[in-house]
Amino acid sequence: MPEAVAIHPSIDRGLPPAAADFAGGTLVCKCTDRPVKVRVESQSAHNHACGCTKCWKPSGALFAMIAVAPRDKVTVVENADKLEIVDPSATIQRYACKGCGVHMLGRIEKTGHPFYGLDFIHTELSPQTGWAEPGFAAFVSSIIESGADPNNQGAVRARLRELRLEPYDCLSPPLMDFISTHIAKQTGVLKS
Ligand SMILES: [Zn+2]
Ligand SMILES: [Zn+2]
Repeated sequence: MPEAVAIHPSIDRGLPPAAADFAGGTLVCKCTDRPVKVRVESQSAHNHACGCTKCWKPSGALFAMIAVAPRDKVTVVENADKLEIVDPSATIQRYACKGCGVHMLGRIEKTGHPFYGLDFIHTELSPQTGWAEPGFAAFVSSIIESGADPNNQGAVRARLRELRLEPYDCLSPPLMDFISTHIAKQTGVLKS
């Protein structure tokens, strides 16, 4: 038997199931001294494994695990002074801890963007259980850009399917439809 493909530590370990009445939790960075804390007062949505080169991944992981929550439900509650924007020119402003490098939230400031109003979060940083589980894998090809062996992609996709995370090379079809619908309404192609 070939060695099992490691996707992401939390996903490989098996996540606790989503709780029906889950109301959120607090994300904590990896610093032992003055950790950054971010309170999320809602369940997450669209949780997924992401293979892109921009999302923060735990060391050794092929994929990030990333979800969204309403921007007005996401608040930095401790040690905000340790946060810095990874790339100010990027559409998603990812706020990383200067101490440990973990991304604590990603925020979009362009009001016309389809995902404006949603902050990107890594729910694995929260000790609370009951967060929505990942539902698919995005940007699977892109792990090659981070150094993954292109010849192993078949095994990676097989493992993702085994985990019931359908692999896609962009976002999932419902999210791609959501983006295109937003753009079609903006351009007037689609009358809302
Ligand atoms: Zn930190
Ligand atoms: Zn990503």
